[in-house]
Amino acid sequence: MEHRERQTRQRDALLQALQGSARALTPAELCALAQQQVATLNLSTVYRQLNALQELGVVTRVELPGQSARFEAACAHQQDAHGDEEHHHHHFHCTQCDRVFPIHACPGTMDELAPPGFQVQRHDLTLHGLCADCGSAQAARSAAC
Ligand SMILES: [Zn+2]
Ligand SMILES: [Zn+2]
Ligand SMILES: [Zn+2]
Repeated sequence: MEHRERQTRQRDALLQALQGSARALTPAELCALAQQQVATLNLSTVYRQLNALQELGVVTRVELPGQSARFEAACAHQQDAHGDEEHHHHHFHCTQCDRVFPIHACPGTMDELAPPGFQVQRHDLTLHGLCADCGSAQAARSAAC
């Protein structure tokens, strides 16, 4: 019983950390955040709980090319997506601070990019650039010169 209570607290702390963050987090970032609530949390517990949270459908794994896996809270669109209108979203990767942010939009099927006779079934799309923080820091630096 005590064991289960501890697990629930760990899971809640992770979920809150993910939901409170507007971006996708690596397990290490997540562990550090959630430790503010449950100090005994360690990385192997984080991995175990992340698997459980993914099975519940409240956490989504984010795999970007050349990046280690990150995790984010399933967005509201994902949670109330029923049937054929499956919501998917894309990501913005900041090349400066290496943070990853969800973009809840999609440019469409991109059928016209495929060669004639080809059928697009899915796509991955990642934008790379400077996030607002890094962009304004850079603007401030160049203004100072
Ligand atoms: Zn940045
Ligand atoms: Zn979304
Ligand atoms: Zn899309």
